[in-house]
Amino acid sequence: MICLGIEGTAHTAAVAIVNSNKEILYDNRDMYTKKTGGIIPSEAAQHHKKVFPKLIKEALEKVKKIDFIVYSNAPGLAPCLMEARDAAKNISKKLKVPLIGINHCIAHLSSAHLFTKVENPVYLFTSGANTQIISSEGNRLRIFGETLDVGIGNALDKFGRNIDLGFPAGPVVEQLAKKGKYIELPYLVKGMDVAFSGLVTKTDNLFKKGAKKEDLCFSMQETCFAMLTEVTERALAHCNKNEVVLIGGVAANKRLCKMLEIMCKERNAKFYAVPLKYAGDNATMIAWQGILEYKGKRNRVDINPYERIDEIEINF
Ligand code: AMP
Ligand code: MG
Repeated sequence: MICLGIEGTAHTAAVAIVNSNKEILYDNRDMYTKKTGGIIPSEAAQHHKKVFPKLIKEALEKVKKIDFIVYSNAPGLAPCLMEARDAAKNISKKLKVPLIGINHCIAHLSSAHLFTKVENPVYLFTSGANTQIISSEGNRLRIFGETLDVGIGNALDKFGRNIDLGFPAGPVVEQLAKKGKYIELPYLVKGMDVAFSGLVTKTDNLFKKGAKKEDLCFSMQETCFAMLTEVTERALAHCNKNEVVLIGGVAANKRLCKMLEIMCKERNAKFYAVPLKYAGDNATMIAWQGILEYKGKRNRVDINPYERIDEIEINF
């Protein structure tokens, strides 16, 4: 079975081809970025509209026979979701092959099983828009904790926007943090949930009063990542599990990986992270999730910007 996957839920337009033997036959992406300010959904959608034809053409030059098309139909920014849907519909019509829609967040989670040896973990899902601490029970995913406001990636991006780092700011924050010193910031853990907006406001105020970018980056990272590590540790204990896997774009951050690794070692648990290339949004994970779900029930093709992962039955 050969599947062509299309991703376009937010900033990244991507196309990949994967077969049922877990071989990646094609993977390419083009990310909407900005030197100043943050993501503007309509602009990101225009970006996707422009790059999808080129990515799809290139993919089909590489692999001629495609059995079906999958795209991420949920959750995400509606204008971007619509561009991905239209690109997917066009290509399925042209090739006369079936089209299915899958949930982008589920694809992030199952990519952990595609790329690592993890079996039954606590998932720490840290992307732009999402931050959730998840584990599975039967054929459902349970969200044990999550952000009460913005996702960790968006918090880092907003923080970065306030101190003029451009979009996406996460990788720049990581580099600047290496030269920074600690400034105390609010630590916002509420039960199993976390909140980041207060930190964005506080760091903005400190920056306006003259705090150094490097110190703010270091302190922002240390505080946010300590909060996530604390809640992940509690989920491990509560679920009596001994594996943690980190997924989503912020999984690219070495400091977050280090903190989780130390926590896991102290608890005799194993820590895994998806490879850097596949941590953020990509279409390989979408194509692979398509392979898993092709024969399943979820072959809806319209978009759903707000679908949550605990609404769906899983098969990994
Ligand atoms: P995703 O939505 O899963 O594609 O993840 C995108 C988010 O990951 C953006 O908010 C980025 O700022 C963030 N990100 C990417 N690389 C890093 C990094 N090295 N450190 C922190 N955040 C990062
Ligand atoms: Mg994502």
